[in-house]
Amino acid sequence: MMESLLATARRPARRNEPLTTYYRRHLPELHRLERLIRKGASRLDTTVIAEIRDGDLALPLYALTLGNPASDAPVLMLSGGIHGVERIGTQLLLAQLRNLLSRLEWDQGLQQDLAHIRLVLCPLVNPVGMAHGWRSNGNGVDLMRNAPIDAEAPSAWPLSGHRVGSWLPWYRGARDSAMQPESQALCDLVTAQIADAPFTLALDCHSGFGMRDRIWFPYAGSQRMLEHAAEVHALTRLFERAQPHHPYVIEPQFHQYRTHGDLWDYLYAQQRERQGGIFLPLTLEMGSWLWVKKNLRQLTSFKGLFNPLVPHRHKRILRRHSLLFDFLIRATRSWQSWLPDEDSRARHQRQAVRRWARPERS
Ligand SMILES: [Zn+2]
Repeated sequence: MMESLLATARRPARRNEPLTTYYRRHLPELHRLERLIRKGASRLDTTVIAEIRDGDLALPLYALTLGNPASDAPVLMLSGGIHGVERIGTQLLLAQLRNLLSRLEWDQGLQQDLAHIRLVLCPLVNPVGMAHGWRSNGNGVDLMRNAPIDAEAPSAWPLSGHRVGSWLPWYRGARDSAMQPESQALCDLVTAQIADAPFTLALDCHSGFGMRDRIWFPYAGSQRMLEHAAEVHALTRLFERAQPHHPYVIEPQFHQYRTHGDLWDYLYAQQRERQGGIFLPLTLEMGSWLWVKKNLRQLTSFKGLFNPLVPHRHKRILRRHSLLFDFLIRATRSWQSWLPDEDSRARHQRQAVRRWARPERS
């Protein structure tokens, strides 16, 4: 399956072909997502939150919710495919969704977890970019540089985001223009879903940076310590005790680079302004340089820099993160039992500063 997936992905998308052919040839992930939506129809609440144009076609941007629909339920938000070339993030979420749907048939623990929390999935945020194998969306905008927020201490230009033009990667979009439909739809979705939630965890799946798998928390645009660093620290400790051999480097994103227009910085700031519930947005950055090192052939392919090309490695990656997803579900369900109280909060904040104020040398 992987081989045919690659073969289709390498060909540029031809506009004006029928939708089903287009899906099969250029966007097997969307095809698979729609099959899962049909399979899980009795449990999933599915919405098309935007239609994204590619020539004559309109591609659906799907949001799925699963579990407790009450507006004051805690929320776990999972997203991927913001950068179209990073297909593995979307594939990882589709594998998790398939796993959840089949386990919900029999797994009473999971059924109880989902009776308490709401899972919100947006597995393919940038369908046009993915169909064409682009990082950007169809307008050449890098959606993860597209929020109306400037970095306090940006990294080197142009990686930090720029307004020169869509011909150069990391384009933020024109100054004072509206957000792109994909980023706007994602922001509206998150805002609506977490408005009354007392606690929200988010995990946005990316790939392509470095040798290690990383879990990042804000800020992406500032070297300030996050206001909820105490909560992130408590969550990190919980994870490290539950999974002492986990593969992740957990750190603020600014340790690696700093960018303008980060959607999660923006959403976090908005939630604080509204004085809403606790919102901890995390990014999973899968370290694809390791896949490249183990298979130098990947260097000859742009896609190979962001996605595993060897089938056994692809399967291993889909398996590798299952522990993380299970943990996030449990941590969201039981948020009240581990979130620091007034007394322990100051201690966690101090420990967070000690641990994360400066990048570790690695
Ligand atoms: Zn990315």
